[in-house]
Amino acid sequence: MDVINWSNLSFGYMKTDYNIRSYYKEGKWSDPISETSEFINLHIAATCLHYGQEVFEGLKAFRGKDGKIRVFRMRENALRLQSSCRGIMMAELPVELFEEMVIQAVKKNARFVPPYESGASLYIRPLLIGTSAQVGVKPATEYTFIIFVTPVGPYFKEGFKPTPMVILREYDRAAPLGTGTYKVGGNYAASLVAGEKAHELGYSAVLYLDAKEKKYIDECGPANFFGIKDNTYITPKSTSILPSITNKSLMQLAEDMGLKVERRPIPEEELATFEEAGACGTAAVISPILRIDDLSENKSYQFSKDGKAGPISEKLYQKLRAIQYGDEPDKYGWVTVIE
Ligand SMILES: *Cc1c(COP(=O)(O)O)cnc(C)c1O
Repeated sequence: MDVINWSNLSFGYMKTDYNIRSYYKEGKWSDPISETSEFINLHIAATCLHYGQEVFEGLKAFRGKDGKIRVFRMRENALRLQSSCRGIMMAELPVELFEEMVIQAVKKNARFVPPYESGASLYIRPLLIGTSAQVGVKPATEYTFIIFVTPVGPYFKEGFKPTPMVILREYDRAAPLGTGTYKVGGNYAASLVAGEKAHELGYSAVLYLDAKEKKYIDECGPANFFGIKDNTYITPKSTSILPSITNKSLMQLAEDMGLKVERRPIPEEELATFEEAGACGTAAVISPILRIDDLSENKSYQFSKDGKAGPISEKLYQKLRAIQYGDEPDKYGWVTVIE
């Protein structure tokens, strides 16, 4: 067995020992099958290849000080996957099967769950694709669900540091009544050009406005947005953003910390009043935002004066990580202990 350098992991792909699969045929999902191959054998007319019938999820497992492995809120991911399936007419995977397969995928690859001290974790990627052959535009009748895992490094290699983000008004990620609330690959394809442009300009991510009025904050590419002011945690309400499980968890923790929590439309001008701002998602928990530039409007909103994250973002980040790694009690039953 090769030795893994835990302190040198990125957010890339590393081959692990097994992936777990289930096949949907004639209205039924198969029992989980454990596979060692990283490849799938796919029909050239499969609907996932032509008409974008693909949904996915992302969650993590963490090794605690006690050596035990903890998976964070997998039931929420199972439910969101079902919602995404309904959104693009794919067969829904039962919640229990999802949970069983996550546990199997983690257990069978337990040697890839990084040690506590590394600050790294095991990223779990479930995906579901339409596989039956179809040339007319119709949903598939057969589907494949796969879970693979890969160890990933800590997101903040140089510490919990704010980065600048940008509003590019010439791009939209999702339409108001489109697929923005579903975790589908198509939304990501639609965001690649804007994302690359932002990187070229020196920004870490695009902050999207609502596509209809270009007035309200939607989300930051693959992460939800939140702002802090007057002891209040404020996050957008919109019909085109993905319901982030990290955001949902942070809202609960913010409330526990005595903050008020508001989920409502956030007009862009309100950015000027926030004391702190951040993007949140499984990958980083929180990516604090240094500044947001609205390039075509020639506006700029600054959140951090000293280049450091704000105290509330820092506290929320530490608190959620502590629950994930088992350093603090799991008051809400968010964590599944595997071994
Ligand atoms: C996955 C995702 C998020 C973050 O969701 P989490 O459940 O917190 O990981 C936010 N926005 C988009 C568009 C996403 O795909």
